[in-house]
Amino acid sequence: MDILNSLELQNHVAAPDELAGRVIAITGASGGIGRAVALACARYGANVILIGRNARKLEAVHTEIETAGGPEPIIALLDLEKAIAKDYDQLADAVTERYGRLDGLLHNAGLLGTLSPIEHYDVPTWCRVMHVNVTAAFALTQVLLPALKRSADASVIFTASGVGRRARAYWGAYAASKFALEGFSQVLSSELEGISAIRVNTLNPGKVRTMMRRTAYPAEDINTLPLPETVTGPYVALLGPATRGVTGQQFDCQSTK
Ligand code: NDP
Repeated sequence: MDILNSLELQNHVAAPDELAGRVIAITGASGGIGRAVALACARYGANVILIGRNARKLEAVHTEIETAGGPEPIIALLDLEKAIAKDYDQLADAVTERYGRLDGLLHNAGLLGTLSPIEHYDVPTWCRVMHVNVTAAFALTQVLLPALKRSADASVIFTASGVGRRARAYWGAYAASKFALEGFSQVLSSELEGISAIRVNTLNPGKVRTMMRRTAYPAEDINTLPLPETVTGPYVALLGPATRGVTGQQFDCQSTK
């Protein structure tokens, strides 16, 4: 293990074949950060499982990976708001049938909900955000644990947020859901440490030029923000051999100063 903090993660220079042969599943691979990380993982040799709810957008990412000469990805349609047990089981069966194991699971999909005081927070919106951001991540992790256990070096990443480590007013369910993911990550990493080769960490991408950021900060000049492609390095490092054995930690893709 040679990476212990965010700066080392950010400075890691990946080998061209850093992720060769690894099977990596990414939720929310249809756009934003998830799409960029999927393309980067394939560029470093991973077999990527593109998980999302929009077939057209996922097919576009599939084509981009193929055109760039990456290993052929597979698409797994899963709407995290609507999926029921059999949908999760089907996905896990498909992964096992095709690859026999899973080496990486990036929980990237997320819902912002609304920015509003708790006093007025819309209850159905609260439930949707908690379900997509937390409960679906739990369900997907649980169903994929057998495949992760069959890997010699599996990495699970939960996508964090600044407001999920130090909350701010009006971030409501989104902030609460990201705090919940930090807690879930700690529970899971403690359960698996020492008894499996699965490591579990959280990674905060920082400010990134995506639809979610635009929705959260409509008055901001989006052109001043880094593109998703520029924050993929720490994801690759955390999914690959450079962070073998690192578990139970919180990382940042960008300096938080
Ligand atoms: P985007 O809104 O661009 O992407 C969100 C992704 O989540 C999309 O692929 C979207 O799919 C998917 N998604 C949403 N709902 C569902 C659902 N019900 N089922 C399946 N997939 C779903 O946001 P970002 O790329 O910015 O966000 C990625 C992650 O990074 C999130 O967890 C976010 O909280 C986190 N983050 C982002 C920051 C930023 O500045 N951008 C800062 C800190 C954290 P679809 O294309 O179908 O809508």
